[in-house]
Amino acid sequence: MDSQSKYPYELPPLPYDLKSLEPYISANTMSFHYGKHHLAYVNKANELIKGTLYEEQSMLQVMRNSINKDPVIFNNVAQIWNHDFFWKSMKPGDGAPDNRMNEKIITTFGSLEKFNQEFSEAAISQFGSGWIWLVVEGTKMKIMKTSNADNPLVHGIKPLLALDVWEHAYYMDYQNKRVEFVKVFLDHLINWDFANANL
Ligand code: MN
Repeated sequence: MDSQSKYPYELPPLPYDLKSLEPYISANTMSFHYGKHHLAYVNKANELIKGTLYEEQSMLQVMRNSINKDPVIFNNVAQIWNHDFFWKSMKPGDGAPDNRMNEKIITTFGSLEKFNQEFSEAAISQFGSGWIWLVVEGTKMKIMKTSNADNPLVHGIKPLLALDVWEHAYYMDYQNKRVEFVKVFLDHLINWDFANANL
């Protein structure tokens, strides 16, 4: 979703059906994660922003202006954007990076396997709720971890891909086994076309 979007926010459409990511992510998980969690962030953000100066600001401005001052507003608005970016970071059907992205991955990480390993280690070591990102900072591609609702965008860093490692993202399908969820994301769901388009 466009970070220039303004209040009132709407739940952005999913780029696929609720059951499209099965068997890796169940329609049940998607119906809760998108239909309840993502929607709740939209409703809460609208409720909190109504009648404040944030009404006139773009989503990006709201995030930057609220991060240290109004953490509850920041959390809800950032989670609207983060989730839309996460849905787009996945697609049905196994994919691989195209030539341009593959070259970048090899130059940066050594190989796709090493990228997977580094991404997976970041995801497993993120303590508590948060997000794992593939980003470009300046000209350098790297993996970034953020806690809770924090994201690269608000720090002026360009995100290419996101993985939600909040428990609600995987608990129904994988219980507490975050490591399995991360492997499935890397092996079967990651949308390299989206990362390439963001590059
Ligand atoms: Mn989530």
